[in-house]
Amino acid sequence: MDTTQLEHYKRALEKERDMLETQLDKLGVRAGEEEWAPKVADDMDISAADENEVGDLSEETQIDEIVLEELETRYQHIVHALKKFDTNTYGICEVSGKPIEEDRLEANPAARTCKAHINDPLPELG
Ligand SMILES: [Zn+2]
Repeated sequence: MDTTQLEHYKRALEKERDMLETQLDKLGVRAGEEEWAPKVADDMDISAADENEVGDLSEETQIDEIVLEELETRYQHIVHALKKFDTNTYGICEVSGKPIEEDRLEANPAARTCKAHINDPLPELG
Protein backbone atom coordinates (compact mmCIF):
# COMPACT_ATOMS: atom_id res chain seq x y z
CA MET A 1 0.00 0.00 0.00
CA ASP A 2 1.44 3.41 -0.87
CA THR A 3 1.58 6.48 1.38
CA THR A 4 -1.40 8.15 -0.29
CA GLN A 5 -3.60 5.14 0.39
CA LEU A 6 -2.37 4.87 3.96
CA GLU A 7 -3.13 8.56 4.54
CA HIS A 8 -6.59 8.07 3.10
CA TYR A 9 -7.47 5.29 5.58
CA LYS A 10 -5.81 7.09 8.46
CA ARG A 11 -7.88 10.20 7.83
CA ALA A 12 -11.08 8.14 7.61
CA LEU A 13 -10.24 6.43 10.91
CA GLU A 14 -9.39 9.69 12.68
CA LYS A 15 -12.62 11.25 11.48
CA GLU A 16 -14.66 8.31 12.79
CA ARG A 17 -12.72 8.29 16.07
CA ASP A 18 -13.50 11.97 16.68
CA MET A 19 -17.15 11.45 15.81
CA LEU A 20 -17.40 8.47 18.16
CA GLU A 21 -15.68 10.39 20.96
CA THR A 22 -18.25 13.16 20.66
CA GLN A 23 -21.11 10.66 20.82
CA LEU A 24 -19.56 8.73 23.71
CA ASP A 25 -18.95 11.90 25.72
CA LYS A 26 -22.61 12.79 25.22
CA LEU A 27 -23.91 9.41 26.39
CA GLY A 28 -21.35 8.52 29.01
CA VAL A 29 -18.60 9.65 31.31
CA ARG A 30 -15.00 8.82 30.49
CA ALA A 31 -13.83 5.98 32.72
CA GLY A 32 -10.47 5.30 31.09
CA GLU A 33 -8.46 5.89 27.97
CA GLU A 34 -10.82 3.82 25.82
CA GLU A 35 -13.69 3.36 28.25
CA TRP A 36 -16.88 5.16 29.10
CA ALA A 37 -19.32 4.57 31.93
CA PRO A 38 -23.04 5.20 31.48
CA LYS A 39 -24.14 8.62 32.60
CA VAL A 40 -26.57 8.62 35.52
CA ALA A 41 -29.02 11.49 35.47
CA ASP A 42 -28.78 13.43 38.73
CA ASP A 43 -32.31 14.72 38.42
CA MET A 44 -33.69 11.21 38.51
CA ASP A 45 -35.90 11.00 41.59
CA ILE A 46 -37.13 7.44 41.78
CA SER A 47 -38.91 7.82 45.12
CA ALA A 48 -41.24 10.46 43.68
CA ALA A 49 -42.02 8.61 40.47
CA ASP A 50 -44.76 6.03 40.18
CA GLU A 51 -43.97 2.47 39.15
CA ASN A 52 -44.61 2.98 35.44
CA GLU A 53 -42.28 5.91 35.25
CA VAL A 54 -39.50 4.00 36.99
CA GLY A 55 -40.01 1.22 34.47
CA ASP A 56 -39.64 3.63 31.56
CA LEU A 57 -36.57 5.19 33.03
CA SER A 58 -34.68 1.96 33.56
CA GLU A 59 -35.62 0.76 30.09
CA GLU A 60 -34.23 3.96 28.62
CA THR A 61 -31.07 3.60 30.67
CA GLN A 62 -30.62 0.04 29.41
CA ILE A 63 -30.89 1.13 25.80
CA ASP A 64 -28.34 3.88 26.43
CA GLU A 65 -25.99 1.31 27.95
CA ILE A 66 -26.29 -0.98 24.94
CA VAL A 67 -25.65 1.92 22.54
CA LEU A 68 -22.74 3.05 24.69
CA GLU A 69 -21.20 -0.43 24.64
CA GLU A 70 -21.55 -0.68 20.86
CA LEU A 71 -19.96 2.73 20.33
CA GLU A 72 -17.19 1.86 22.76
CA THR A 73 -16.40 -1.39 20.93
CA ARG A 74 -16.29 0.43 17.61
CA TYR A 75 -14.09 3.11 19.17
CA GLN A 76 -11.67 0.48 20.46
CA HIS A 77 -11.44 -1.04 16.99
CA ILE A 78 -10.67 2.36 15.47
CA VAL A 79 -7.97 3.10 18.06
CA HIS A 80 -6.54 -0.39 17.53
CA ALA A 81 -6.35 0.24 13.76
CA LEU A 82 -4.77 3.68 14.24
CA LYS A 83 -2.05 2.20 16.46
CA LYS A 84 -1.00 -0.02 13.55
CA PHE A 85 0.23 3.01 11.62
CA ASP A 86 2.97 3.42 14.22
CA THR A 87 4.19 -0.14 13.73
CA ASN A 88 3.68 -0.23 9.95
CA THR A 89 1.21 -3.08 10.26
CA TYR A 90 -1.87 -1.24 9.01
CA GLY A 91 -3.76 -3.17 6.34
CA ILE A 92 -2.18 -6.47 7.34
CA CYS A 93 -4.41 -9.40 8.31
CA GLU A 94 -3.97 -10.24 12.01
CA VAL A 95 -4.41 -13.94 11.26
CA SER A 96 -2.40 -14.60 8.11
CA GLY A 97 -0.15 -11.52 7.93
CA LYS A 98 -1.28 -10.99 4.34
CA PRO A 99 -2.49 -7.63 2.98
CA ILE A 100 -6.17 -6.94 3.58
CA GLU A 101 -8.16 -6.40 0.37
CA GLU A 102 -8.62 -2.73 -0.60
CA ASP A 103 -12.40 -3.03 -0.97
CA ARG A 104 -12.64 -4.53 2.50
CA LEU A 105 -10.68 -1.62 3.98
CA GLU A 106 -12.75 0.83 1.99
CA ALA A 107 -15.91 -0.62 3.56
CA ASN A 108 -14.33 -0.85 7.01
CA PRO A 109 -10.98 0.88 7.54
CA ALA A 110 -10.75 -0.77 10.97
CA ALA A 111 -10.90 -4.32 9.53
CA ARG A 112 -8.51 -6.63 11.37
CA THR A 113 -8.40 -9.52 8.90
CA CYS A 114 -8.47 -10.28 5.20
CA LYS A 115 -11.65 -11.75 3.70
CA ALA A 116 -10.45 -15.33 4.16
CA HIS A 117 -10.21 -14.84 7.93
CA ILE A 118 -13.31 -12.75 8.50
CA ASN A 119 -14.75 -15.31 10.91
CA ASP A 120 -11.56 -16.29 12.66
CA PRO A 121 -11.48 -15.68 16.41
CA LEU A 122 -9.32 -12.72 17.38
CA PRO A 123 -8.18 -11.47 20.78
CA GLU A 124 -10.74 -9.07 22.30
CA LEU A 125 -9.88 -5.40 22.34
CA GLY A 126 -10.10 -3.04 25.28
ZN1 LIG B 1 -5.90 -13.41 6.53
